[in-house]
Amino acid sequence: MISISIRQLTKRFGSVTALQRLDLTIGAGELFFLLGPSGCGKTTLLRSLAGFYIPEEGTVLFGDEDVTRLEPHRRNTGMMFQSYALWPHMSVAENVAFGLEERKVPAPELKRRVAEALESVRMGTFADRKPNQLSGGQQQRVALARALVIRPRCLLLDEPLSNLDAKLRLEMRAEIRRVCKEFKLTTVYVTHDQKEALSVADRMAILDGGRILQVGSPREVYRRPVGRVVADFIGETDFIPGTVAGVQGGRVAVETPLGLMEGVPGDASARLVAGAKVTLCVRPECWSLSDRQPEGNWVRGRIGEAVYLGELAQYALQVGDRLLKVIELNPRFLEKSGQGEVYARAEPEDVVVLAD
Ligand code: ATP
Repeated sequence: MISISIRQLTKRFGSVTALQRLDLTIGAGELFFLLGPSGCGKTTLLRSLAGFYIPEEGTVLFGDEDVTRLEPHRRNTGMMFQSYALWPHMSVAENVAFGLEERKVPAPELKRRVAEALESVRMGTFADRKPNQLSGGQQQRVALARALVIRPRCLLLDEPLSNLDAKLRLEMRAEIRRVCKEFKLTTVYVTHDQKEALSVADRMAILDGGRILQVGSPREVYRRPVGRVVADFIGETDFIPGTVAGVQGGRVAVETPLGLMEGVPGDASARLVAGAKVTLCVRPECWSLSDRQPEGNWVRGRIGEAVYLGELAQYALQVGDRLLKVIELNPRFLEKSGQGEVYARAEPEDVVVLAD
């Protein structure tokens, strides 16, 4: 197990700065996700770790070793990329053995390690098949075995599941987590899929414009986004503008067009003082609906469009001239759509106050 330390990393492509003085430490054995809008620098960062890109400035350390300028094949990283196809003319076992042959591992050890790697991804009985005789999910398992067999110092995954259908993705998510934890592998995983990141990551970084906006556990990032871009990128959020009325005991009272709301700061370092312009972020599932006026932190409106999805319903709640998204589990307010007014309440803990 090694930690990965990235210090002041800058990577440019002509006039485009893909990574800007980026600092990040990934713990030994951690399953770490990189997320962010298209073009934010995720792949560039991953490729810099793999050694395919040499940065203009900054360093990459694997443990204590400076690998910034080390060639890719000397870094001993296991890679699984979306486009990292298996060799069609080779059997599963030959595909997995390839990296060991390059490293001139003796035949008996090679055979044993290939068998172990295939076993670890539950593909032991498929060793003699050709890739075109496997399902998409099975091919990804072989690609994972191929990455593991070289006993990499870390695993680098770029959208490894994006070619799979929804059900297989779910299955493979769990499988990747199991394998990474079993092998105690430090893993860096790039994805566009927030659910994949929220359900599998130990921690994640949200990037934008080649910089890191926030690093934290899935819960921290989802529940306490430090800014609008993060809140908007992960999950759904309603943004409500307001002005700070007062701050007490970690709670911030905010005057909004919908009434006085209490919340908590998203970024502990932000200076929130009376009179400051802020934005409130409330997730749709944080509202609870009722017919009667609740105690504090509520808004009142009419349910407009309602979408029934079985275990939950999504509503558009018209409050004044604003539409709020509300999700109700085990829906009971469906019949109120187009009817009279209802109350929606959010716990102050679920209302995140961001400085503008
Ligand atoms: P996506 O989610 O779309 O895959 P990403 O977050 O992985 O995006 P990168 O591929 O790292 O983003 O690209 C970061 C920036 O660097 C983008 O503006 C991109 O256009 C630019 N870029 C990446 N690779 C190159 C290259 N080889 N030559 C020129 N510009 C590049």
